[in-house]
Order: sequence, then structure tokens, then C-alpha cells
Amino acid sequence: MEKNNKDFVLPGDRLSTAEEYVPGDNTTELNGDVISLVMGSVQRDEKRLLVNVKKPKEKIVPGNGDIVYGQVTRSDNRQTIVNIAGIRKNGNILYFHAEGYIRNSMDDRRDERYFQAARIGDIIRAKVIRVGQNLELTLRGEGLGVLLTRCSRCRNYLRIKDGKLYCENCDRVEVRKTAPDYGYPIL
Ligand SMILES: [Zn+2]
Repeated sequence: MEKNNKDFVLPGDRLSTAEEYVPGDNTTELNGDVISLVMGSVQRDEKRLLVNVKKPKEKIVPGNGDIVYGQVTRSDNRQTIVNIAGIRKNGNILYFHAEGYIRNSMDDRRDERYFQAARIGDIIRAKVIRVGQNLELTLRGEGLGVLLTRCSRCRNYLRIKDGKLYCENCDRVEVRKTAPDYGYPIL
């Protein structure tokens, strides 16, 4: 018997005979055949002779209050641009690509931690505060901030020393709004 070699199947599609493969995820045996119970992509495990169907990944819709992870690509007096790579949904961090920005207000000059709180190359954890064409983010709030950064002079990773970001190479201190788990991020 010839097997169904389609990669994408619909519920009820025949995947193989029950002799060729054992039903795995989202499949079942019916009248000597293995059929799909869902719409999705076929994955065959040739070692265990299992056939699975994986459901398409759900589209991730970011919302206000969501926590995102990303890297700063640009920063000036007006805004900090973030290349977002992950989003926390239901306790898991999922791959999610989008551009975000943090407004840099002149009022932030009063607190040096918040004036350009993150710089180019920094890895950050931020919160979504407005969903639009791009996502507006903030570093203000518990657990938010820079997770990893390099010295702007020698590019060495900075570590926390006496509560400050310190470069051992240059013997100098830099200012960011760091997350409490800076350097050892707990995802
Ligand atoms: Zn340095």
C-alpha cells in the first residue's frame, strides 16, 4: 500500500496503514488505516514508526501588560528601539518577533537610571504598554530592566558590584535601569 506523503493534512485524511505506522499525536486508527484528527503538518518518527500531526502554532497577539524580551538596536534622546524576540504567555516564553520602542522623556533626566535606561546591544525585559503598529514598551516596574549589557568602551560584559554596573577592564561604572536578576536572568 502506498502511504500518504502529504505534509499538510486535514481531519480524516489517511496517513498510512496501521501496519506501516502506529498512531501518535492527533491521529487514530480507523479500519486498518491511521488517520488525522486535526488540521496540521505530518511528522513521521521512522525509528518508532509513529506518525504524528502537529497543529499549526497559534498566532501570538501581544496585549497590554505582556512581558517581552529583546535587544536594543538604537537609542537617542527621544526613544529607544527594541528588537523583540520573545514574549511571555501563560508562563512560557514564546518566540515572537516585533519592533518595540521606549519613549525617552526629558523628565527622565531627573533620575539617571531612567534616562536612556537601556543602550544599544542591551538585552532587556520590558512590559508592553500600548499595542499599535509597533509596541510601546516600558522598563518601569518590578522585575523589568536590563538583563545583560556590555561596557560602552571595551565591550566587556558588565557585572554588578556594590549595586552598580561595573567594568573590570576599564575600572568604571555605567548606569542602566537593571532588572533584579541582571546577569543571571530567570526566564
Ligand atoms: Zn570596559
